Amino acid sequence: AAVARRDSIFWGPPVQLEDHEANPDIHHDEIASEGIEACIGNTPLLKIKSLSEATGRTILAKAEFLNGAGNSPKDRVALNIIREAEAQRLLTPHRGDTIYEGTVGSTGISLATLARAKGYRAHICMPDDQSFEKSDLLHHLGATVERVPVAPITSPDHFVNLAKRRAIEHERRHNDGSKGFFANQFESKANWQAHFRSTGPEICHQTDGEVDAFVAGAGTGGTIAGVARYLKEEANLQNVKIVLADPQGSGLFNKIKYGVMYSATEREGTRRRQQVDSIVEGIGINRVTDNFEAGRDLVDDAVKVTDEQACRMARWLVEKDGIFVGSSSSVNCVAAVVAAMKLPAGSQVVTILCDSGTRHLSKFWKQIKELGLEEEEATDVFEALGISK
Ligand code: PMP
Repeated sequence: AAVARRDSIFWGPPVQLEDHEANPDIHHDEIASEGIEACIGNTPLLKIKSLSEATGRTILAKAEFLNGAGNSPKDRVALNIIREAEAQRLLTPHRGDTIYEGTVGSTGISLATLARAKGYRAHICMPDDQSFEKSDLLHHLGATVERVPVAPITSPDHFVNLAKRRAIEHERRHNDGSKGFFANQFESKANWQAHFRSTGPEICHQTDGEVDAFVAGAGTGGTIAGVARYLKEEANLQNVKIVLADPQGSGLFNKIKYGVMYSATEREGTRRRQQVDSIVEGIGINRVTDNFEAGRDLVDDAVKVTDEQACRMARWLVEKDGIFVGSSSSVNCVAAVVAAMKLPAGSQVVTILCDSGTRHLSKFWKQIKELGLEEEEATDVFEALGISK
């Protein structure tokens, strides 16, 4: 039987539901001459059996950790950002051009991998509270890595502002005709558009458009905005509920629920913290980025998830389904269960498994061990999460 090659949908024009059947002549067994890029996109949509059984709804998850360059949905974004920069002649291969980015890790890993594949250098600025697995990997990929103390976004030393400054400084520092390019994932349209052009169409294709809710956290907001816009505006699935999964300490939950980032009392505490106070990496922010704004009007609901719930869900997924994921994926799955229970029995909910647990051994999975969850066997997911049916 004909199967769509992994890159057949990705990067084509936005795929209409009825067009999917028009592609049956593309096979997996062709040689992917584009190299590692062929491993990006067209990820499987898994049924999470244990959660589907427990909720009486179908819980589906896009296995984004199977994107085969940097092993997260950021492969899609990094590829789109680089392609657009090349089209605008902001990047030219094999000239010493350097891609600069501020990232908590995943985008840096995807950019560093694709930079290698395409003849660029990568210079990544990241906060120093993120797991070492990610910065070690960046080193092995040959990127220059600056781990910097956590600072408010208003500070010139915030990791994003630093990356931007480094890009500006590039020509003066190198003076060899090479250029610096700031990837700018938080504000660049190429981010949400990557999901609009690939993740969204893939979800439609894989479900035949039967999606009652899409649940995702926001780091830059690119995933939720791009998928929401595709589902609601392009595929015209007006009734699909878009649900934000938000970790504790993030300001977005209140923004969606009440239109303001924080209550007055919380605001003062947050100003002091200046960061999302959670063990969860990759999602949860205290500002509205351009990428989140691109889909904000389409978000119908938000679910706040505690660190403990995220830890318990991660453990549950390993124990019941053999699915070993990181913290943002766990938050998404907790929120997917909560969102599913607000829908009629039999509904279909789609969420995202962002990255593998192997990237989170030293922090998130250590915490799971310290909480003693590896010793416990949970029998009821609602009880484990402390939520009512
Ligand atoms: N999960 C992980 C592990 C991430 O690194 C990110 C991005 N920072 C996300 C989820 C969120 O994706 P987005 O930036 O599209 O909101």
